[in-house]
Amino acid sequence: MSGKNETMPADTKAVKSPYDILFEPVKIGPVTAPNRFFQVPHCNGLGHLRPRALAAMRGIKAEGGWGVVCSEEVEFHPTSEISPAVEGRIWDERDIPAHRLMTDAVHEHGSLAGIELVHNGLHGPNRISRLPPLAPSATPVDSSDPVQARAMDKTDIRNFRRWHREGALRAKEAGYDIVYAYAGHGMSTLMHFLQPRTNQRSDEYGGSLENRVRLIREVISDMKDAIGDSCAIAFRLAVDELLGDKGLAADGESRDIVGMLAELPDLWDVNVSGWSNDSATARFEPNEGYQEPYTAFVKSLTSKPVVGVGRFTSPDAMVSQIRRGVLDLIGAARPSIADPFLPAKIREDRIEAIRECIGCNICVSSDNLLVPIRCTQNPTMGEEWRRGWHPEKIAARTSEDPVLVVGGGPSGLEAALQLARRGHPVTLAEASSALGGRSLLESRLPGLASYARVRDHREGLLRTMANVEIYLGSCLDADAILEFGFPHVFLATGATWRRDGSGRANSRAISGLENLAVFTPDDIMAGRMPESGLVTVFDDDHYYMGGVIAERLADIGCEVTLVTPALTVSAWSEYTLEQGRIITRLLNKDVTLTTGRNIAQVFSDGLELACTHTDRRETIQSDALVLVTARDSNDQLYHELAEESESPEDGKLKTAGIETLLRIGDSLAPGTIANAVYLGHLAARNFQGAPWEDGLFKREIVEVN
Ligand code: ADP
Ligand code: SF4
Repeated sequence: MSGKNETMPADTKAVKSPYDILFEPVKIGPVTAPNRFFQVPHCNGLGHLRPRALAAMRGIKAEGGWGVVCSEEVEFHPTSEISPAVEGRIWDERDIPAHRLMTDAVHEHGSLAGIELVHNGLHGPNRISRLPPLAPSATPVDSSDPVQARAMDKTDIRNFRRWHREGALRAKEAGYDIVYAYAGHGMSTLMHFLQPRTNQRSDEYGGSLENRVRLIREVISDMKDAIGDSCAIAFRLAVDELLGDKGLAADGESRDIVGMLAELPDLWDVNVSGWSNDSATARFEPNEGYQEPYTAFVKSLTSKPVVGVGRFTSPDAMVSQIRRGVLDLIGAARPSIADPFLPAKIREDRIEAIRECIGCNICVSSDNLLVPIRCTQNPTMGEEWRRGWHPEKIAARTSEDPVLVVGGGPSGLEAALQLARRGHPVTLAEASSALGGRSLLESRLPGLASYARVRDHREGLLRTMANVEIYLGSCLDADAILEFGFPHVFLATGATWRRDGSGRANSRAISGLENLAVFTPDDIMAGRMPESGLVTVFDDDHYYMGGVIAERLADIGCEVTLVTPALTVSAWSEYTLEQGRIITRLLNKDVTLTTGRNIAQVFSDGLELACTHTDRRETIQSDALVLVTARDSNDQLYHELAEESESPEDGKLKTAGIETLLRIGDSLAPGTIANAVYLGHLAARNFQGAPWEDGLFKREIVEVN
């Protein structure tokens, strides 16, 4: 509104929000979703091992307004399991009580519970059950396990249909409202039947598209017969594998598949495949709604509701999807992880409070590493049950004590925000001219712009809080901190990349560094970098930094060689599903990739490399070297202050009235941004409560009868 003469309408309730459309109910077969917010199935490392934690996490999503909350993929038969990955399991009736925890938690908030039944086929080497995997044809499984699948005969196909039907019946008994048949991500038998490259059959289940679709048609029909009176049957289809004519494609067979099955399922859940394409990181798919070009056709071929994903975090983009007839339901996995209360915040017109997913896939890494889910933006994710954390609630302060937070990076910002939410007067001092620390600096590197959201969300909220004072350009030293006399001081002063090359592969400094121009990621982020010539990036860190620095330098015209002692480039990025894309991008930018090599010595015109297996030496020419090895905590300030406390009777800390001196984030131990945020959050939650190092949380312990 603008202009002096405008007045608020008398009945503000009559004012329609542009987002109302997102809160319309959607009928899905025999059930009705209360709104259009649909948490699509997502893995989480909780699965069948941690059902209480899982139920609490899903329940929070429902509480936050997601009208449909789905499970992860849930195996319905022991001929399909991807252990040690921790997925869902509904092999027999003994699994039902665990699922009931989840459906009850979701129903408590009026949402629908969905389950994605899966038979993994070629994707499951069956490491636990040791049963031969089943597949359309006898081909090797898609992992490197020395295992081949057995081609399903007619009896197997009959059994498969029966198992799927029985799985659906158990799902209904467990209280699910929506039950999926799943042909996505290249991870399911139904998809293996669809794909010509995995289905080499010559019977009525192979060959023509009609034949390859047959099993899906039968399975969906079986499910409808068995449970369709009260449960909606969803079909999840990967409409494009991004393999051109080598795979299923939106402008190829997928159009016919959707056409053939158009009205059979009650709901179409459509996406791209494989998982690294579906859950692409922001580094590779920066735009919201990036799947639209592939999935948009589906609605024109069916009258059934369609759900799709695309890292949707902004209500305008969501409304646009609905209004333009792309989707009926806004699907989200990661946006619901980063902010379980995203729908509620839109409904309450608190858009600025949305914690937007940064598209980093730390959440995915936890599933790949078989541990409970975590999230860079949402430190409470996965902690709902075991620590009792709620993303929107935090215990009120137990004192009125003011707190000084030194350092406005991810950890300091998170601690300041949570302490302020608890009601403490908070003073945040930041040395530089802007908040954000590494999240801001790294956001200037290629593909990492969204990392600034870590700062944006927290700064945005802190700036509105009356009990928060922020001082920029305030580099505090020990004397200043003692002089201020805050009773509680949180130090979040970050970490600095090492300039001596020591790290994993080298316990000591690399010799000869004085001979060459040497840079660190901190230099590059501050704009100091070699601008041309031969540059070697030495990556002994193995996550994203080495690769992005190489990319940055290639972009400005340097001839870049990336050397790493690891056997692959950006090795840890395998867990965030980025590694393949990183390698492709670097090769496309003509970066030379040299793996399995350490630096033995640095000369004035190059480097001597040592093979990590044989110690054989070779020399390469280089005009400059960027060391991406390890970081040192910026903990000088802590030690200066802490040393004073060694004689508590007359120590300066005591004299200054400082009761709490805590290090958090990278200044305690360098790690991921997710970890820095987590440590800031943990410290703020536990402030004036249990010592955080106690680390005690609830565990789901196997019962011994
Ligand atoms: P983390 O990830 O642990 O939050 P960062 O390196 O991202 O760490 O952030 C640390 C922040 O602390 C940086 O913005 C830095 O400028 C700031 N900082 C470091 N030392 C001081 C200090 N003595 N006084 C104020 N701010 C500081
Ligand atoms: Fe998004 Fe990263 Fe959180 Fe995953 S971990 S939900 S990608 S912010």
